[in-house]
Amino acid sequence: MQQQSSLVTKALLIGGEHVINHNQKFESVNPATGEVNYFLSLATASHVQAAVASAKAAANDPAWRFMLPHLRARLLSRIADGISARIEDLARLQMIENGKVWSECKAQAASAAAIFRYYASVCETLGAEITPSRGDYLSMTSYEPYGVVAAITPWNSPLTMEAQKVAPALAAGNAVILKPSEITPSTALLLGEIALEAGLPPGLLNVITGDGATTGSALVSHPDVRMVSFTGGTATGKHIARIAAERLIPVALELGGKSPHIIFDDANVDAALKSVVDGIFEGSGQSCIAGSRLFIQRGVYDQVVEALVTRAQTIKVDAPEASGAEMGPVAGFRHRSHVERLVAVAREEGGQILAGGARPSGAQYERGSYYLPTVIAGLNNRSTAVQQEIFGPVLCVLPFDDERDLVAQANDSAFGLASGIWTANYQRAWRVAQALETGLVWINTYKQLSISTPFGGFKESGIGREKGVTGVRLYQQSKGIYWSMDPANFPAPNQ
Ligand code: NDP
Repeated sequence: MQQQSSLVTKALLIGGEHVINHNQKFESVNPATGEVNYFLSLATASHVQAAVASAKAAANDPAWRFMLPHLRARLLSRIADGISARIEDLARLQMIENGKVWSECKAQAASAAAIFRYYASVCETLGAEITPSRGDYLSMTSYEPYGVVAAITPWNSPLTMEAQKVAPALAAGNAVILKPSEITPSTALLLGEIALEAGLPPGLLNVITGDGATTGSALVSHPDVRMVSFTGGTATGKHIARIAAERLIPVALELGGKSPHIIFDDANVDAALKSVVDGIFEGSGQSCIAGSRLFIQRGVYDQVVEALVTRAQTIKVDAPEASGAEMGPVAGFRHRSHVERLVAVAREEGGQILAGGARPSGAQYERGSYYLPTVIAGLNNRSTAVQQEIFGPVLCVLPFDDERDLVAQANDSAFGLASGIWTANYQRAWRVAQALETGLVWINTYKQLSISTPFGGFKESGIGREKGVTGVRLYQQSKGIYWSMDPANFPAPNQ
């Protein structure tokens, strides 16, 4: 094992400069091995102050503020090219920090490039509007950036989430300060480097690493931060929303989920099963849209559960880079304890563990934070493990009788992020899709995602919609402009 003293300390990226905090640093730990990867600099309040000052100056620079959209788009395209050229580097950083399997990390890095490319084209093509006038004037709506935007991201999919915030915020004309999770800080730092190499002026993308209490708090409280885009847990999101309310600044919140995945008895059960397995066990269940509550109509309940348990028991849990690995460790040892605690509660509340419910045994798992794919039956929809987000490879299966019973159970949740319906009856699919209180509904598919479709949740799953053309508007404020066509006829009566 490497001597800790020989490990590098990564720098913050502030105003295009690399700044190392030699006095306050923190470890990055590989969840597959328990080894320390390197150290990161902790950004204190004074680093946050410097980052905000540099972002503010960069945002106000007329060269950026009034940059023509096609030129801004060119910069975004060059960042996309830079990401494409470094897919393996980015994927490796994510893999050694959150333990996701190599194929998923690579796919997410490629997706980050695609996100920048998409927002380059949105930037170039999205216009202002001429609105219908009700008098002798021309009225328009134009869109302006907020200035300095704080982007705060979680550890489960930093590659895509960082791109999802940074690309539209830059396309909208802002400067961004990116605060990644302390568990996965390095993809953000490399993204900052790539942006600089692509020619993005210094200060437009600052990356500050550190924990939420120190770095994140200082960032959202800073008076020159004019908008916060946050993805993470619901409790943290509410805390940030309270600070934003006090400061009267807008927030976009992408929060937790406890998504119902539903199989009616007329469904294509084989296709549904594959989708259920991927929907919960991919990424070790650490996905806000994981289909963690599986509702199965009673007529196919036994058949589905039996097949599901067999499949869960054969998922290949292995080192993230191992060939054929389907599931790596969960993102850390503390997080595994959280998963274990909720599975213990499920047991206490009468849950029957049909698969998993334990760490895998074997020498190759001993040093990492591995946990087996777990299937729990026998709980009702109000029990703790069915209501709380576990954010791990744990699926609760519940029977239902009819559509009415299903909708009532599925909607009985504080969350409302996503849902999936499997049925051959298209009228029922439409009815249920409308009745479900979730920001996304998949019909005869699951976890299908596209950058062009707005993404976000109902209820405690968040406020605002990222992605899509309107993803840029999240980072802009509108301005109504009236041009009189006949100054003699002034003022026109209100209409
Ligand atoms: P957290 O809410 O703990 O953290 C998210 C980010 O917020 C991290 O960068 C964290 O920093 C930071 N943070 C924590 N406290 C504060 C604070 N007081 N002020 C400012 N920033 C703060 O979530 P996790 O990282 O544990 O991520 C898992 C959660 O994210 C799950 O609940 C999941 O559902 C949700 N999520 C939602 C998604 C969606 O799109 N709806 C997508 C992915 C995840 P640090 O960790 O360094 O302390």
